Amino acid sequence: MTQYALDDTDVAVIIGSGPGGATLALQLALKGFRIVMLEAGPWVANEDFVNDERAAFDQLSWTDPRLATGSWALARNFPASPAWMGKVVGGTATFWTGLTPRFKNHEFRTRSVYGEIADASLADWPIGIDELASYYDRAEVAMGTSHRQGRPPMPANNNYKVLANGAERAGYRHYATGPYATNVEEYDGRPGTLQDGFCQQGDKSRAKWSPLVSEIPKALATGQLELRTNSQAVQVTLDAGGRADGVVYADEHGALHRQRAALVAVAGNAIETPRLLMLSGTSAHPDGLANSSGQLGRNYMRHTTGVVYAEFDQEVHMYRGEPMAGIINDESRHDPDRGFAGGYYMEMIAQGLPSFTTFMEPGGWGPDFTAKVEAYTRTAGIWICGEDLPRASNRVTLSATLKDHLGLAAPEVHSDDHENDLAMLEHAYAQGERVFRAAGSRRVTRAPAMPSGHNLGTARMSAAASDGVVNSYGQTHDIPNLFVSDGSIFTTGAAANPTLTIMALVLRQAEYITANHGSI
Ligand SMILES: Cc1cc2nc3c(=O)[nH]c(=O)nc-3n(C[C@H](O)[C@H](O)[C@H](O)COP(=O)(O)OP(=O)(O)OC[C@H]3O[C@@H](n4cnc5c(N)ncnc54)[C@H](O)[C@@H]3O)c2cc1C
Repeated sequence: MTQYALDDTDVAVIIGSGPGGATLALQLALKGFRIVMLEAGPWVANEDFVNDERAAFDQLSWTDPRLATGSWALARNFPASPAWMGKVVGGTATFWTGLTPRFKNHEFRTRSVYGEIADASLADWPIGIDELASYYDRAEVAMGTSHRQGRPPMPANNNYKVLANGAERAGYRHYATGPYATNVEEYDGRPGTLQDGFCQQGDKSRAKWSPLVSEIPKALATGQLELRTNSQAVQVTLDAGGRADGVVYADEHGALHRQRAALVAVAGNAIETPRLLMLSGTSAHPDGLANSSGQLGRNYMRHTTGVVYAEFDQEVHMYRGEPMAGIINDESRHDPDRGFAGGYYMEMIAQGLPSFTTFMEPGGWGPDFTAKVEAYTRTAGIWICGEDLPRASNRVTLSATLKDHLGLAAPEVHSDDHENDLAMLEHAYAQGERVFRAAGSRRVTRAPAMPSGHNLGTARMSAAASDGVVNSYGQTHDIPNLFVSDGSIFTTGAAANPTLTIMALVLRQAEYITANHGSI
């Protein structure tokens, strides 16, 4: 692998190797940029993934201390785990499920379309569907998404057949097994899926797209990228003129190093990204870098979610096959007649027994709980994914008391559900129950949100520097050579699972950096 000296001032430093960071690394490497990527986690090869839910969680996840506060369900049920994120090369997408819907047109213009909503900080994006359409196309090609760009649809597994049967009988018309970023057949040098059920534990077969099997090896092959694993960025440094000029990071032994940089891009996911920029604060930037607007860490969004489980008389075996290759689209519209703004998707969910028992009824016990566990093989599930509203008070801050293994302030994630979120969730639970009852279930269970896999909005994009942290290219308003390349930059969250949009935004960002390299 190529190696760059710590005092080399002509490298771009990218922090994080998930879909955001890896996409940027590949695009810049292809244009001849010299890149150092800092990844806090290790390289775990596909063959070393463990097909055991609990062991896989420990192998791949970010388990450093965190705190959830506020009235959201997670602060009650999992106060030490507000979010589920990866700490591994490939990031969270190493064990994501892979649904890849696009945003809808109105979801870029929520302030205009939904109007003023009290206690929400809605804003229109400075870009819309037209600016992103070609990048969405490219992202779907990169991921090999099913149902798109000439790729075939994902075959239905049994869990999906239950969902589709209920959807049809409930009167829905727009449901399918994708778009889903897993190979149906051989594509991009990787095999088609075996539908073997394991991928949220890392996909040994490489059929599922992730940066680990696509962008990272391709970027390394250019000879332009040096990937430093077990290297956690702890501070972005500035020169006397206020430009980013390096990144201090801790290696696996906790020793600190400083890599000089011509450009820095932070792609640590929407909790670690604002945390790092806050940890980088100086006397000139006491509230963190790129925070002249005061918006850094604010407007945290994580989608309105919950699960509807349903028991059937016959076997479902939800765990067999791709876990989330099923989506009902009909409710993902803005229709205020339902009593709330924005929309939601109903997505198929499959879990192994350890996750099922942990999340189906947190802290559950007793005969009723046991009966539900015993019905596991006859159970199907719908995961609700809806647009939650940004609020200035829903935010990531540095904990005053909790520290990580490096002695750095841990992130505290505060969130209160907006009444719009609660009205949407109630509607979605009821519709999910309707779908499963239509398919013949006699017993349904509502489960609360799991630790958030979709973390958004904490360095939001805005036209005016006073309203957000970055411009439409993810370039911070305050520091021209400091970029954010992950879901932190979402102005609002839409109902769609976010990763395709993260990649589309970063593809656009990479073109901007390449075109304006001399003047950034
Ligand atoms: C179980 C699960 C299922 C999911 N399924 C879907 C789905 O079906 N569809 C969808 O669109 N999305 C899904 N997601 C969300 C998806 O995984 C994320 O949207 C996506 O991975 C975000 O990409 P990212 O690059 O912004 O961040 P990540 O993928 O989280 O990568 C961030 C990386 O940065 C590293 N990092 C953080 N801080 C530092 C630091 N200070 N120094 C060095 N490195 C650092 C982390 O270790 C990590 O590897 C799912 C998430 C989960 C948990």
